[in-house]
Amino acid sequence: MSITNIRTRFAPSPTGLMHLGSVRTALMNYLFAKQKHGTFLLRIEDTDAERNFDPGAKQILQDLHWLNLSFDEKPYFQSQRAPLYQKQLQILIDNNYAYRCFCTQEELEKKRARQITLKQPPRYDRTCLKRTDAEIAQLIANNTPYIWRMNLGTNQSIMITDLAHGQTTFDLNHFSDFSLTRQDGTVTFMFANCVDDIDMQITHIFRGEDHLTNTAGQAALFKAFNAPLPIYWHMPILCNIDGKKLSKRDFGFSLNDLQQAGFLPEAICNYVAIIGGRSFTNEIMSLDELANTLVFDHIHTSGQVKYDVEKLRWVNHKWINQYDPEKLRNVVKQHLEKQYPAITTLSAEKLDTLIQTVKTDVHTIDEFGNELAFYFTTPTITKSDLALHLPETSIDQILTLFQSHLEQIDTGDQFLNNIKLEAKTKNIPLKQVFTALRVALTGKPIGPGIDALITMLGTDEAKKRLEKLQNL
Ligand code: GLU
Repeated sequence: MSITNIRTRFAPSPTGLMHLGSVRTALMNYLFAKQKHGTFLLRIEDTDAERNFDPGAKQILQDLHWLNLSFDEKPYFQSQRAPLYQKQLQILIDNNYAYRCFCTQEELEKKRARQITLKQPPRYDRTCLKRTDAEIAQLIANNTPYIWRMNLGTNQSIMITDLAHGQTTFDLNHFSDFSLTRQDGTVTFMFANCVDDIDMQITHIFRGEDHLTNTAGQAALFKAFNAPLPIYWHMPILCNIDGKKLSKRDFGFSLNDLQQAGFLPEAICNYVAIIGGRSFTNEIMSLDELANTLVFDHIHTSGQVKYDVEKLRWVNHKWINQYDPEKLRNVVKQHLEKQYPAITTLSAEKLDTLIQTVKTDVHTIDEFGNELAFYFTTPTITKSDLALHLPETSIDQILTLFQSHLEQIDTGDQFLNNIKLEAKTKNIPLKQVFTALRVALTGKPIGPGIDALITMLGTDEAKKRLEKLQNL
């Protein structure tokens, strides 16, 4: 394996539950590093104490672990890196790239509202850049709170390379001198994010298109620090099927939704990696296969990417069906434990029989619950249940037929063959016979084949259920 110096990072802010967009960001950075034999690192952007809803990033770490997205360098926490930010801020100050801003929040909001009314782009009007040294000294002497702002200069433009948008030039006249610090002295996302990308020598940044406007200011920061610009891929935002930005109201927005519903981590990564991309001969791919297959160079996709839960269900179905039986058994057991506590007492062999028989019909692990309900909860069948699926005139005839062969139920094929033969001689349609058997065993008219059902239940239990029918 050749070692290159490609370095990517996932840099989440611990502001809440991981959503599908952040899964995609993590995944793309991970896959790119893997493909290029580079380094993928995790950096927790927790400088905003008020919005730190996941202290220690426990949930993020757990989610990444669940998704099998392992990082090569231990997680960095921005909250532990304040001295570096202060040092870098001083460099900007010393080189006139940063200036103090004493404007209050109310003043800024008023100016902003005015600009909007005048149909001007809302930008900081640089009041504080124009202050004299004496004014500044006075404000400081009065203990007036201030922040540091980036001085974007005048008439500067900056070009970045973006895999989705090509070479993109930003005219910095259209951007605000953004804030580098807050009034409490802590640093902003814009600043810390960039300082760290430089310090961690990040070469490629895959992130949502919503960050594209931040990139202009951040590129100016790279320039101010004389650091080489990374290559970007601002990925199109995920939309729901109606073309609206994916939101909390859409099922599957949060990773938690998908976990609860029984989607497998492999399927989620697989789907999210191929969504909106070119078509693949074989769409079902593991992380390794995705890393080997995805083409990252010359991607010119932009616009919308539609999240289609039906496609995700299909991918999940494929994964369920190709999962190693032992792995699938453990996942199903864990998922259904609450619903059917008896599942924990079943032998591995028994559970495998149950799972392997129905797995071709399920799209999520949750659906095993429905498919296997008949096993864990004995259905109560009445004549009127049978009458829903069979002509009433046939019911007694079919029940007598079962009765006369019930003793041989443990002969497997023999039992079914005898029933079939006798049904034929008595002119009872086979379809009716099998429907009755299935309803008797499971409570439902459709499901696995009768022989499979008898194997799943075991002959004793199957017999018990058929006997119960006689006493309707
Ligand atoms: N903390 C930022 C976010 O979660 C990181 C953006 C980036 O990848 O640069 O959106």
